[in-house]
Amino acid sequence: MSYNVSPVGFVRSCFKEKFAIPRQPQLAPAARGVLELVAPFDKGEAVQGLEQVSHVWLLFLFHQALEDKPRLKVRPPRLGGNTSMGVFATRATHRPNGIGQSVVKLDNVEAGRLWISGIDLLDGTPVLDIKPYVPYADIIDTATNDVASAAPQLIGVQWLKTALQQAQGHAQRLDEPLVELIEQCLAQDPRPAYQVPTSEREYGAQFWDVDVRWHYPEPGMICVLEVLPAQ
Ligand code: SAM
Repeated sequence: MSYNVSPVGFVRSCFKEKFAIPRQPQLAPAARGVLELVAPFDKGEAVQGLEQVSHVWLLFLFHQALEDKPRLKVRPPRLGGNTSMGVFATRATHRPNGIGQSVVKLDNVEAGRLWISGIDLLDGTPVLDIKPYVPYADIIDTATNDVASAAPQLIGVQWLKTALQQAQGHAQRLDEPLVELIEQCLAQDPRPAYQVPTSEREYGAQFWDVDVRWHYPEPGMICVLEVLPAQ
């Protein structure tokens, strides 16, 4: 049996590639985007009342991780990429039907557009549905999860003076909290857990329209080297 679903909109996101996106929402509050609704949901009626809501659940497609063959076990990056686990015990992107879910902050609402932040979504992500977060039902004080018991431990982020100036310039041009975005995302340590970085090895990722490059001068510490217009 199969059912058809079609997106109600697409996310325009600060994240242009998968690498360096936080592993869950809310970990980088400066991660912002716009959910652009498509017809017929781009009319004001569809979002009427949402201005009374601070956060929404987004159900979306991991459109850049879709697979034909279902996996029963996955190797979540959080567990170092070496330990496999039942797909339903994880929030891995490779999963049946490729459906993701994130609670995001709703910063502004207008007909056809929702401004959202704290996102963990790639640019172009198709959104299947939007539902208001309902604190009395969605907060479970007694909930536990021994697979993912706490947010990832943060590491220190330093800047070369020139890199910070570059980021501040682009932040002003973009009118976005770019310095905070870079610090919040890199502090999660985007590098795969199994990869031990040498101080010479450089990493990079695109945020908005800039390429950010960094290295690890010592274990557990990132230094941002440059923030340049993306090629
Ligand atoms: N909060 C969601 C969930 O639990 O279903 C997503 C969790 S998943 C572990 C987060 C990762 O998904 C991000 O770090 C990013 O690399 C990846 N991602 C985000 N949007 C994606 C997309 N549209 N297609 C493929 N991967 C995506």
